[in-house]
Amino acid sequence: SCMPDRTNLCSNHSFDTPTIPPYSGSSSIPLSLKTLTLDGYFSFENLEHAAKDFGNIYQYLPMAVLHPKSVSDISSTIKHIFDMGSATKLTVAARGHGHSLQGQAQAYQGVVINMESLERPSMYVKTSEAPYVDVSGGELWINILHETLKYGLSPKSWTDYLHLTVGGTLSNAGISGQAFRHGPQIHNVYQLEVVTGSGEVITCSDKKNADLFYGVLGGLGQFGIITRARISLGPAEKMVKWIRVLYSELSTFSNDQEHLISSKNSFDYIEGFVIINRTGLLNNWRSSFNPKDPIQASQFSSDGKLLYCLEMAKYFNPEETDILNQNIEKLLSELNYIPSTLFLSEVSYVEFLDRVHLSEIKLRSKGLWEVPHPWLNLLIPKSRIFDFAQEVFGNIVKDNSNGPILIYPVNKAKWNNRTSLVTPEEDIIYMVAFLSSALPSSTGTDGLEHIITQNQRILDFCAKAQLGAKQYLPHYSTQEEWQVHFGPQWETFVQRKSAYDPLAILAPGQRIFQKAI
Ligand code: FAD
Repeated sequence: SCMPDRTNLCSNHSFDTPTIPPYSGSSSIPLSLKTLTLDGYFSFENLEHAAKDFGNIYQYLPMAVLHPKSVSDISSTIKHIFDMGSATKLTVAARGHGHSLQGQAQAYQGVVINMESLERPSMYVKTSEAPYVDVSGGELWINILHETLKYGLSPKSWTDYLHLTVGGTLSNAGISGQAFRHGPQIHNVYQLEVVTGSGEVITCSDKKNADLFYGVLGGLGQFGIITRARISLGPAEKMVKWIRVLYSELSTFSNDQEHLISSKNSFDYIEGFVIINRTGLLNNWRSSFNPKDPIQASQFSSDGKLLYCLEMAKYFNPEETDILNQNIEKLLSELNYIPSTLFLSEVSYVEFLDRVHLSEIKLRSKGLWEVPHPWLNLLIPKSRIFDFAQEVFGNIVKDNSNGPILIYPVNKAKWNNRTSLVTPEEDIIYMVAFLSSALPSSTGTDGLEHIITQNQRILDFCAKAQLGAKQYLPHYSTQEEWQVHFGPQWETFVQRKSAYDPLAILAPGQRIFQKAI
């Protein structure tokens, strides 16, 4: 039923829903892989680790894991598989830090490349005009932060959590509270080195091999493996004022958010989240935030309410505290939050950026980190955010005790639209992220099945109401759905696939194309 089309890729293919396929045993390991001369090495046993990810929902065992020590290890492995053509069903998945949600970095009976092994050449920071850092595609953002800070510099655009690799976030976008100003991480890259699906090593940038460069950015690993990236840097401040305020109306909240993302001299980070019927929430904040007015704040209760929290941060150096306080006061005076709910904190720049790691340590100690994470990330056009909130926060989601729900706007007017990233068509779009954790054995509202059903209801509503929403970190099971996701960009995506990975060897876990055998 699967006819290779002109791209040699299998179309109209349906994939199965979550299952754990049986391991076919070691008899089919292609011995030829063992004959390759490498700086690093292959493992053929104890590969369970490579079948796991943060989502903890899908588990596909590979046949081999490559621990590369050089770019040529990656290139010769892919070249070898490419040269075997349709004689082998082997596919190749780069695995960054394995923080995908639905098996995107897995390769069923294929080869997983453990990108974190690729440490050489080491990081290089260029400090003069237009500073940048050259890093391996397997480098963790937290390491880049520490290295660049030695030079008083820092990347400008982040994710909320830094224990992710450069290759992993650049294959998606890398969107966080700085994106309103600097764009996502894919817009803060000058140059990439990529190994394509035929094993060719290509350097690309806006000036050179631009089609590959933009294809790979947000390209879900489909066109090549990022082995090196040149990331733009700016001056780093030492400290951060971190502020939270509450709203009871979406209109006031979103007006303020949209005002802040378009103001000059605004905050450096702007996000927000929804609070649905939570008890004792503000008390929990007291361990890290100080209420401006402790007495009034202690009388404020979130029980039974739908609230919106605006979260802002301003970077500063200790010697500038006076100007900083004046600035912040001016910015806050333009906002319309509930006055008794102003919470402030002051932390170091590293503590702020690495904030989710603290939660990770706490959750790990309680055994609550390695649980299923049925996350749903959506980009919603500004014009429909009220329709979305009314139905989703009013009817579908009864409380957010399974995890945070982020909601914040970014202005993408100045974003480059040549990358593979798919966004709704308006200039201002909202990131809405349902970051749920499930209790593995529960059949209740905190169980995996309930949360997956709820996510599906949200997606069904978006489709039925024609919100023009797009999934971020997208996940689909049929190629038709991918085609709808990409819309007018689908043709370019398919063309790029046939140019750079014609046998569909790369990133099979995204389930967009299937290798024809
Ligand atoms: P992996 O899961 O290992 O890989 C992701 C995909 O990219 C796979 O298809 C893989 O094959 C491919 N890939 C990996 N490395 C390479 C490479 N070098 N070259 C080409 N393809 C490659 N995202 C945001 O945008 N903003 C956030 O604020 C944010 N916060 C997060 C917080 C947490 C706690 C977690 C778990 C995730 C968060 N994410 C966020 C999502 C995150 O960006 C993605 O899950 C990302 O894919 C994780 O990076 P990774 O290194 O673990 O990638």
